[in-house]
Amino acid sequence: MPAVLRIALPVPLPTLFDYLPPAEGAAQPGSRILVPFGRGKQVGVVVEVDAASDIEGRRLKQAIRLLDDAPLLDAELMQTLAWAADYWLGAPGEAYANALPLALRETRPLPATGEEYWSLNHAGRSAHDAGSRRGGSRDLLAQLADGAKSATELGELLPGWRAAARRLAAADLLERSERPPAIPDMPASQTPQLNDEQQQAVTTVGASLGQYQPFLLDGVTGSGKTEVYMALIEQVLAQGRQAMLLVPEIGLAPQTVRRLRQRLGVAVEVLHSNLSEGDRARAWLRAREGSVRVILGTRSAVFTPLPQAGLIIVDEEHDSAYKQQEGFRYHARDLALVRARALGVPVLLGSGTPSLESLANAAAGRYRSVHLRARPGAAKPPQVQIIDMRAQRLEHGLSPALLGAVRETLARGEQVLVFRNRRGYAPVLMCHSCGWSAACPRCDRPLTLHARQRRLICHHCDFQQRVPASCPACEANELTALGQGTERLEEALVAQFPEVPVLRVDRETTRRRDAFENLLASLQDDKPAILVGTQMLAKGHDLPNLTLVAIVGVDEGLHSIDFRAGERLAQLVVQVAGRAGRARKPGRVLLQTHQPEHPLLRSLLAQGYAVAARELLVERRQINLPPYSYQVLLRADAAQRADVDGFLIDAQMALPENPALQIAGPMPAPMPLRAGRHRGQLLLEADSRQTLHSMLRAWQRALAALPLSRRVRWSLDVDPIDLY
Ligand code: ADP
Ligand code: ZN
Ligand code: ZN
Repeated sequence: MPAVLRIALPVPLPTLFDYLPPAEGAAQPGSRILVPFGRGKQVGVVVEVDAASDIEGRRLKQAIRLLDDAPLLDAELMQTLAWAADYWLGAPGEAYANALPLALRETRPLPATGEEYWSLNHAGRSAHDAGSRRGGSRDLLAQLADGAKSATELGELLPGWRAAARRLAAADLLERSERPPAIPDMPASQTPQLNDEQQQAVTTVGASLGQYQPFLLDGVTGSGKTEVYMALIEQVLAQGRQAMLLVPEIGLAPQTVRRLRQRLGVAVEVLHSNLSEGDRARAWLRAREGSVRVILGTRSAVFTPLPQAGLIIVDEEHDSAYKQQEGFRYHARDLALVRARALGVPVLLGSGTPSLESLANAAAGRYRSVHLRARPGAAKPPQVQIIDMRAQRLEHGLSPALLGAVRETLARGEQVLVFRNRRGYAPVLMCHSCGWSAACPRCDRPLTLHARQRRLICHHCDFQQRVPASCPACEANELTALGQGTERLEEALVAQFPEVPVLRVDRETTRRRDAFENLLASLQDDKPAILVGTQMLAKGHDLPNLTLVAIVGVDEGLHSIDFRAGERLAQLVVQVAGRAGRARKPGRVLLQTHQPEHPLLRSLLAQGYAVAARELLVERRQINLPPYSYQVLLRADAAQRADVDGFLIDAQMALPENPALQIAGPMPAPMPLRAGRHRGQLLLEADSRQTLHSMLRAWQRALAALPLSRRVRWSLDVDPIDLY
């Protein structure tokens, strides 16, 4: 029997595919290969050579062409991907498709890994001198007037420069060239003298370089975690090794990358999903060839090759952005741990509000804990207070005590942040006469009133309609907005404090990518101002004159049916509160609630996140929820409710008999209808991962074979982080 290649193809089928080797070249695991598939062709990754095939040799098709002489994916990545596909029940090909930038999943030759440079040619210089261009084109000409610039520099200086470059290149005014990746020639900047805790953290983690060891670095924002990361990365670089730093959002990346470049004086590559495909591929390849020593990226960067790995860091490890919520549902933090083990390097998880999972791992001795409690350079931690809003006269949801505190703060010339995690004007529009309220026809949930746009918008499916002039049910003219969103709070605050600028920061006001930073930058450091906005405000650059944080409307989080709601609320409150008093001035935090006696709020405010988290963990243990049990969620949706219910009943019947397996459902999803589709779910729970994983693949195959599986969309989510 001839040797058979076992190949992962980017198709959502939970299997590898067998082919005969191509006419030329010796395939190796990790090489890309072009094969016939169905009526077309696909680029796959060779997983095994010399595999024994169940299919008779002569019925196998032959691969068309080997794309790589040497493997593109090294043995460690291949092993990690196989593990990940298995653990998160992905199709093997989907795992590879997530790991490889799109431009590397094509038959084209690998892109050159040099840095892309742009410069003006003669005509370009004339165009610049003549000032004949407008807008982005003119800005780009001006940027290049004093010499060539790299794509990286342009990306930082001039967001959206690529469109201008395309126009100008088409008009023959620009030239593009490739050079070896630049090492920034700025001298590495001075490290501040680390304080004792920071030094302790660096020593502890540094002592584990060269071996696998997870660490949990517990320190609020501003406690100096990034300085610790940088000191450790310096050690790693000095050993000639690579470091990877994951962050939850690109929004956090530009500042961090600037800081890393200045400090370390080496090439730092940024990898996130907003990069152009070419740039992503180049960055990935540079990491693979080792010319890039520091990789900074969001979720998918966890798949970057690290042939000379020294350290992996996951910043804000509790952030749910690390979990991919569709397709291949992996968790980048968990995968970072798996990679660190395979690579034999330490992994450092940092957060001011660690996830309960990580805290439980630390308590069980699987992770070592390091703490940063002091805030370098800042005054005392902010003082936190609850405002009981029961029976108070509210001004658009704001209590007199809260407004008084805002007034005092502004009078001192300082700034205020009002946090409300709800955009729009009001979450409900109701008829005072008959009780009708506006609901999304596709989700059966209230539509959010956006007053300035005069629209009702569904925040679940984006359905929109104009605000009716009168009640559609009884025609009375008594439509009333119930509750407050950021837009309404902005209006109320402008009315109360007409003399100070009120800046609203939410998805509506910051649609453009750089709008958020620009908005914050427009705040003068030394002038009074009010910021009102959603959780976008929990992060972003420091506001030294911000001394009061007012948190309103978080009570919904106390009633949610999701067992993680308490943990999320605690994390959010702590993150937002951390914005106060970041400089020398002391800060103050007010939390306005109808439930001043709520145990979570009480322990959080009186004793801090660590104690609140410990109490939440005790609860989880008592009712046997993660991290003390393991879950897998089967979700299904369809146009007809009957199909969803029927599928889930059949799915339950297909489960093996096992007393260790607890089954909840079939039941409607917490949102039974969304975007016009009926939704349901079946939740499996067990005390050990093994119980679940030993039956999951077989169950998945059984599900795929169910007749109703063709009438529903369904997915399996291992370790789901929300039950929606
Ligand atoms: P985190 O990453 O925990 O939010 P950073 O490392 O960004 O904290 O530190 C917060 C601020 O304090 C930064 O401006 C940083 O430069 C400064 N800082 C951190 N450590 C020190 C130190 N040991 N001495 C002086 N300033 C420090
Ligand atoms: Zn009515
Ligand atoms: Zn909707």
